[in-house]
Amino acid sequence: MRLTLLSIVILLTLLTQHSIAKEYKWNNKLTFLGFLKKYHIPQKIYYNMDREDRELIQEIKAGQSYTINWKKGKISTINIPVSDELMLQIKRIKQGYIANYVPIPYKLIEKTISIKIKNGLDKDLYRATKTHYYYKEIQEVYSKALPLNKMKKGDRVIIFYTQRYRHNKPYTSPKIEACLIEINKKPYYGFLMDDNKYYDSMGVKYQRTYTTRFIIPVNYKRISSRFTQSRYHPILHRYRAHLGIDYAARRGNRIVASSSGKIVFKGWKGGYGRVVEIKHPGGIKTLYAHMSRFGKYNRGSYVKQGQVIGYVGTSGRSTGPHLHFGLYKNGHAINPARYVAKRQAKKIKLKGRQYRKLRKIVLHFRPQFREVKRRKNNIVKKESSKCLNCFKRLPPR
Ligand SMILES: [Zn+2]
Repeated sequence: MRLTLLSIVILLTLLTQHSIAKEYKWNNKLTFLGFLKKYHIPQKIYYNMDREDRELIQEIKAGQSYTINWKKGKISTINIPVSDELMLQIKRIKQGYIANYVPIPYKLIEKTISIKIKNGLDKDLYRATKTHYYYKEIQEVYSKALPLNKMKKGDRVIIFYTQRYRHNKPYTSPKIEACLIEINKKPYYGFLMDDNKYYDSMGVKYQRTYTTRFIIPVNYKRISSRFTQSRYHPILHRYRAHLGIDYAARRGNRIVASSSGKIVFKGWKGGYGRVVEIKHPGGIKTLYAHMSRFGKYNRGSYVKQGQVIGYVGTSGRSTGPHLHFGLYKNGHAINPARYVAKRQAKKIKLKGRQYRKLRKIVLHFRPQFREVKRRKNNIVKKESSKCLNCFKRLPPR
């Protein structure tokens, strides 16, 4: 009897000491300072941050889910994602709290789609996956260089893609790693390189063409900071991200709409200072930060490419006058350089080290293509047992 009581006591202590992770959703009216206040976390956590770290705070989206680990009824850590790669981690330590950006842990699972075409690529992919996502992505891979909509019975498609999982739930969009389109028995391979673009097996790039054109929105002196999803700063010993391009420019220089669209935000955004956001077709949004003053257009108005929406400044605690230019596709920050880059007309073929890298990727996928091709039946979103990043089986990129 005494023993049982003792075990109950032990069990209870264990349970109360055990930390519990709870998931929450970021309320759209919640500011970061309001959030700190709510959980009795000193505001100096925010005020001690530098410029780049403060900018990232503004990337916390309404509706974003975040987790709090509770230990003995007290906060032990809070994890708030700010991008696909990084999360802000607030940790309780003896002397209070510390905040750092750290990579979001995830499992990368490889999956396969292999379909013999019956009615057309879009239709068959949709029937198999219940989404148009893969068709759209395939179009991006081949940059509309192939007659995908004319694929006929007997043609085929093979896609190897990866899906990130976090807390056993898929998170962020699936990414095509390699694919094959067969038209009239002629194969067209696409391989993803580390520049986020697709090449055929000989290293020739499938050129991207955009339906919407974007221009550099300011007359600038130099690029003072480039886009990075996540990088480890060897001197600061921490992770940073910069979800846009900083164009250093003279104070008061005109900032123009990079492409035509509707102004969906005009106002103050913490570390970004005075901000204008424009929504464009195709799920794209552009952001212009640190303005000294706004242009005449208001929220809700439509602006044409090249129309003045504001003027260069340093609002929001930036170092020198510059424009922070961000570009988002379906809410995900992507490198604006991918969109404002000049259209390249001539063929691009990888050489030297880059070419050897591509060939390694081709060899990595070759046995997988061979295996899938051998099968007669369709494969749809088959989950391979491979957790690529757990076992270091990532493509050699
Ligand atoms: Zn910036």
